[in-house]
Amino acid sequence: MNRPAMDAYWMPFTANRHFKSAPRMLVKADGMYYTDDAGRQILDGSAGLWCVNAGHNRKPIVEAVQQQIATLDYAPPFQMAHPKAFEAAEKLAAMAPQGLDRVFFVNSGSEAADTALKIAQAYHRVRGDAARVKLIGRERGYHGVNYGGISVGGMAGNRKHFPVSLPTVDHLSHTHDLARNAFSRGEPEHGAELADELEQRIVTLHDPSTIAAVIVEPMAGSTGVLIPPKGYLKRLREICDKYGILLIFDEVITGFGRLGADWAANKFDVLPDILTCAKGLTNGVVPMGAVLTKREIHDAFMAAAPERAVEFPHGYTYSAHPLACAAAIATLDLYQDERLFQASAAKSQVFEDAAHALRSTRHVKDIRNLGLVAGIELESRTGAPGQRAFDVFLKCWEKGALVRFTGDIIAVSPPLIISEAEIQQLFGIIDYAINATA
Ligand code: PMP
Repeated sequence: MNRPAMDAYWMPFTANRHFKSAPRMLVKADGMYYTDDAGRQILDGSAGLWCVNAGHNRKPIVEAVQQQIATLDYAPPFQMAHPKAFEAAEKLAAMAPQGLDRVFFVNSGSEAADTALKIAQAYHRVRGDAARVKLIGRERGYHGVNYGGISVGGMAGNRKHFPVSLPTVDHLSHTHDLARNAFSRGEPEHGAELADELEQRIVTLHDPSTIAAVIVEPMAGSTGVLIPPKGYLKRLREICDKYGILLIFDEVITGFGRLGADWAANKFDVLPDILTCAKGLTNGVVPMGAVLTKREIHDAFMAAAPERAVEFPHGYTYSAHPLACAAAIATLDLYQDERLFQASAAKSQVFEDAAHALRSTRHVKDIRNLGLVAGIELESRTGAPGQRAFDVFLKCWEKGALVRFTGDIIAVSPPLIISEAEIQQLFGIIDYAINATA
């Protein structure tokens, strides 16, 4: 296949010059497989970018989007609406962790994070508690790339070119502790006490009555598949309750079945006040994100404004876009019709065993997993952090599998429709790639 000119497109989060010297071009997708521009089949070990949970080219979603675009292509979301926006919100609320039943639509995980932070701060203000402005995130947290998200996020590299961060943020330690938790299966045993740092920091460094919210990914995906230690999130919840602080779960990756349950909130039995999601919401087909809140948060905004006033001055031209809503409705139906979250749980033992079979592979420092996600941490090459995993990623591509890497960690998160044979195949390719690049 002829390749297009490649100068104009400035690729996101990509080593542009390296990529353009040897491009990896996807031209088609179906089920568990991509096809590249040489006609090779590539097993999708990363659900696109953690988003294609139901697999590619799913007919009900394709048809819903086709039908929608031919019927109502666009509708302004400010002071106007279309029926599918309400239908999508009702469906999402009905599927959400019980108690989170008000839905604000956005277009991405980054927008969801910034929207959630704004809702948290504004909520306290509309209730007359304007001193609560501070936001607490974590080291190795990832909440997208907008200014709120990089401020509460814990990836210094994503902040380094930008001199401005929200001034009202602080960060807790991450929970990744290889000395105590290496090669853990499921939730690591050690580290619940790390949550106590929240109480210690807000009491000694801040006045607790100045804290608006704590935001965490229940499982940090993009910074290396960091599963929360047993009891950690419950402890965070207790401390937030004690001091009147909102707890925000960023479920952009963990939502929609990734951890072997519908939501991380249900998996860990901890209900946040605000939850963000995106990615799997539309199976990656049309950009969309959502912020879910407890009803009382929504109602506080309604109660604070006169009837003809905008209660929350925030939103996007493409909030609740008709195509996104149509895709979301079809996707959520598909998840339920095919019981894909239950399927994810049912396959997680096979997935875990296949992942941990790489334990004796050269240079493997740690393997961790939950549901249908695993992280394989490799020893870094001296003086070249990240390069070993980059090579493994390239070798996997060469061998016909798509995986993700971050630093020297390989992240595996296939569509939930993956078969047991494909699970074995996927980890077999990764094992081969690690050895071949050793
Ligand atoms: N939050 C989390 C937890 C994520 O994993 C991501 C994306 N990987 C985002 C936010 C940002 O999402 P988006 O790229 O759609 O803006």
